[in-house]
Formats: sequence, C-alpha cells, structure tokens
Amino acid sequence: MEEKTIQIAGSITVDELANALGLSVTELIGTLFKNGIVATINQRLDYETAQIIIDELGLENVKLERKNTSTKTSNFHRELSDKAVTRPPVVAVMGHVDHGKTTLLDTLLHKKTVEDEAGGITQHISAYQLKHNDRLITFLDTPGHEAFAAIRQHGAMLTDIVVIVVAADDGVKPQTVEAINFAKSANAKIIVAINKIDREGADVNRTMADLSQHGLQPEEWGGDIVMVPISAKMNQNLDQLLDMILLTADIEELKADVNIPAEGLVIESHMEVGKGSVVNVLVTGGELKTGKFIVAGNTYAKIRTMLDWQGKPKGKATPSTPVTITGFKELPNFGDRFIEAKDEKTARKMALLNAQAAADESASANVTSGDLLRMMNVADNTKTFNVIIKGDVLGSVTSVVDSLKMIDTKGEITLNIVSTGVGDINENDVYMAAGDNTVVYGFNVSVPVNINKMAARDGVPVRTYKVIYELLDDAKHEMENLLDAEIVEEDKGELKVLGVFRTEKTSIIAGGEVLTGDVKPGYLARVIRNKKYLGEAEVTSVQKEKMDVNVLVAGETGGLAMNTTSKIDLQVGDRLKFFTRESKKRTL
Ligand code: GDP
Repeated sequence: MEEKTIQIAGSITVDELANALGLSVTELIGTLFKNGIVATINQRLDYETAQIIIDELGLENVKLERKNTSTKTSNFHRELSDKAVTRPPVVAVMGHVDHGKTTLLDTLLHKKTVEDEAGGITQHISAYQLKHNDRLITFLDTPGHEAFAAIRQHGAMLTDIVVIVVAADDGVKPQTVEAINFAKSANAKIIVAINKIDREGADVNRTMADLSQHGLQPEEWGGDIVMVPISAKMNQNLDQLLDMILLTADIEELKADVNIPAEGLVIESHMEVGKGSVVNVLVTGGELKTGKFIVAGNTYAKIRTMLDWQGKPKGKATPSTPVTITGFKELPNFGDRFIEAKDEKTARKMALLNAQAAADESASANVTSGDLLRMMNVADNTKTFNVIIKGDVLGSVTSVVDSLKMIDTKGEITLNIVSTGVGDINENDVYMAAGDNTVVYGFNVSVPVNINKMAARDGVPVRTYKVIYELLDDAKHEMENLLDAEIVEEDKGELKVLGVFRTEKTSIIAGGEVLTGDVKPGYLARVIRNKKYLGEAEVTSVQKEKMDVNVLVAGETGGLAMNTTSKIDLQVGDRLKFFTRESKKRTL
C-alpha cells in the first residue's frame, strides 16, 4: 500500500483529517463515534489524538508528521483530487456607494437574461449565474458589507474574483479601500471596473493613478491588475469585463471535486409561509440533489425541492452553483457551512454534534488525547445521560452545568450536555432532544404552551425548576434510572422430591419433604440432581394435606405446583433449592 504522510501543524480538524485520509467526514465521525469518541466536523484534534485515531483505524501506511509553520488554510480551498473538474468562477462585485455596483449587476442581468429569454427577476436573490461565451459565471449579490464581514468571519472564502467598481469621476473612496482589503484577505483575484466613463469629468487615467496609490498597479502600466473602463449604465465594455473574468478564471484553474459528498455554504435563509425554511446555498464541492441529506450548523435537511436562481427546478447542482432549497428543519445561519450526510440518522447525529460543539465552544472543548483515551476506555460500559440546559442568564446556565458535572456517577454514567442556552425553552431544544433520551432542563425560564405540546407529542421530557437542588435531584434520579439494577438473591430452603405427579412443558406438580428453611408461593427453585443443575422453576402454590397453605417449614411434607420456562424431567430424589431474587434499584 502507498505510504502517506500527513503533516499536522499544532492540530488538525476532523474535516481536514478525513480529507487527508481519503475518508468522508461522515465516515470518520462514524468511526470515531463507534469508538466512543464524540467529535464534530470542525473540532480540532491534537497530534497525539490523530495518531490514536489512525492506529484505531488500522491505517499502517499513514504517517503523521509535526509541522511547525502556520500556513493559512481555508475550508473551501481544499486539496483537489486529480479527478477535479473545472467550475465557474464565483464573483463578488464591491465598491464605494453610488459607484455603480447595482447598475452593473442590473445591466448584466438584463442583458444576459433577456438574451436567455428567462423573464424578469422579481424576488431578491443572493446569488445568480450568467452565461457568457457559453460559460457560466456565478455572481454573489453583496447587499451590504455586513454580509462580507460574516463570510469572512466564518472563514469561508467563497469568492474567487472580486470586481471592484470605481467611478471614474470620483476615484478611490473609503469603501473602495475596504473592498481592496477584503479581496486581499480573501485571497481573491481583483479586477477593477472603472465605471461611468460616459460621464463628463470621467478620467480613467487619474483613477488608475489613484488605484496604484492604493497598491493596485494596472496591467497597462506594467502591473498585474486588470482594469476595464466601462459604463454600466450605457452597457459599454461589459462583454470585455466578462471576458476578463473568464480569463482570470482560466489562469486560476478553478476546479472542484464532484465525486465527494456535497458541501458548500449557506448564503441566505428565511421562512416562507407554506414552504417553511427557504435556504440559498452555494455548492462548493460534490453534487447536490433533491432527496439528499445535508447538515448545516445544528440543523439538517432532506432536500425537498431545489430551484436554480431563477426559480426553475434543478435536478442537480454542481460546484459554484447557487440553489434555493427547502427541507431544513430549522433555519440554518448565514455563513454556515453545509455538508452532505449519508442518511437521516447520520445527518441528525452530525447536527446534534454541531450543536454540542457550539455549546462547548466557549469552553474551547477540543479533543485532546487524554479525553480521547478516557472516552475510549469507558465507552463500552457507560451509559450516557443527555441534557439540554436553558437558563435565564448565562450565570445560571453555568452553575447548573457545573453542578451537574459534580454529580458522582461512579464512572458508570457519562453526562452529555447536548446544548446550553439562555432563554425560554424553544422548538429547537425539543427538536434536538427528540428520540435520544434527552432531558431538557430549564432553570428560571418558562415553556411556551405550544412547545409543551410539541414536547408531549415527541415524548421529550421538559422540566423547569426555580431551585437548583431540585433540578440536580431530578438529574440524579434520571441517572439512577440509567444504572443497571442490582440483582440480589437470597437462599430460603431445600426440599427433597418424594413424588412427581405431573411434569408438563411448563409446569410441574410434585411432593416432598422440606429439609431446611421453608418454601412459600413465589419462591424460585433450582432443580439439582446429583449436584447437577437442571433448571429453574417458580413455585406458584404450596399444599399441605391437599389444602393450599402459605408456607411449609423444615420437617414438613407437602405438595408444590411450579412453573418452568422449559420442560424439566423432575424425578424422585431430586433436590429443590429455594431462593428469592430481587432486582434492586441502585442509587448514586
Ligand atoms: P451602487 O450604490 O454602487 O449600487 O450604485 P448604483 O448602481 O445605485 O449607481 C448610483 C448612481 O450612478 C445611479 O444613479 C446610477 O444610475 C448611476 N450610474 C451607475 N453607473 C453609471 C454609469 O456607467 N454611467 C452613468 N452616467 N451613471 C451611472
């Protein structure tokens, strides 16, 4: 088998490790899960942990290496396989207010969609695709700078090319500089559209000089930035601008793998009456299809409908394609990354794990090798008590969590805090708790009536307390219920069989003498012949001189009726050793 070396600089995310190992994230998380390791897609694993996992997976051909550089890696610019295919460029148009961004996009849309006879665009769209020279270009609509701030914050550098619009009669302005900085931080290629050249007072050369003052050297002057003078309003030179976008895309060799689980980013989400959650996503890898399961943040979807940006049904969405999908249980957040899961169960689990990771984030709950070993060691015989904690203020949530962790579970119960939050118990809490033996605790918060109904319907225990000790008692009680009961047996007496009146498949009637102790209805009996155990029976009634009695004591003779689970061929001379068996609830 081919040797493979994976370099780890400090730590590696589950996602990165899966990629490096050539496993799908789902597969790796699944394997981890089977080994009792609860990890999330974005969770960072240290070197030792990664090594343990590789050993656990039996991957002898994989070698880990510590790397000391801190290279910037982006989730979306993953290592591509040699099967990666060319994808359309993702372009954002940015620039100072009033310099003509909206006009440029409108003109392009009108121009191209009219050519395509696609009709008018009515709804607000966050991304769309145009065809130029028979090739697609994906435009991200950037309504405000907040959107970009959010994308940047999520570390998702979707944008391949930033078109910076500068008005030729106004020059470089604060938001122009912001756009330049964004493009640089996003590692995106810059193309400048020098706009409004139809205007009196437009000065392309001065604008170029202005731009070079800000670090953008025009190609004409020996620099490396393509600058196209245009008039967005008069539809001048727009084809040339699109040509330049495609040329830049070619030079960048933009590619993506399609034979991987689908992944991408949520770029817009809202609720619509009758449709529920309507979510715009941009696919960055793999292929999205209706019916597939995808996870985004702490929610997931079975994709019910998928439409292209013009609202037409789309069967398959390949990388760089924006689509609108329905089917999410809850609205995912703008900037959430999505990833395909192989089935609903996995999707659910991944969403839950993401929720948990988000809850743990403040405590920066990354898996270390110590945690990992502990989890692996206890994984087989511990039971998990899942809780969701809601409180009126962060302080109360923290103290409930801390106190819960203090409960000594004798190493037999693992407390799993699925999520925590401030505020009343909501739909999401109940949804997350459903089907997984999870108790939702509220401390000093309330449960809206509809949420109570939903919880009752889904069989989710939702309990609110105002006194922390009562909450803790309840949790302790729940954990005690999870403990295996203790079986206690007590010897009661012995009887020697003197006569067998009937042995049937599941019942015996026999008589004998009590040698020690006593026998009562309800006792269990081990049937012994020459010190050999033949089976177990349950005494249903005891008779003395053909009358039902409550007890026969040592020295007395009488008859017994017994039930057995399988036939026992009782014989004269056999011994019945009576005992009682109780299962005793254990306490913590
Ligand atoms: P945004 O704020 O960057 O989206 O700018 P807009 O697209 O809203 O444009 C601001 C103003 O400039 C509008 O009145 C446009 O009609 C005008 N405008 C945009 N592009 C051009 C152009 O190429 N030539 C002329 N003359 N006016 C333009």
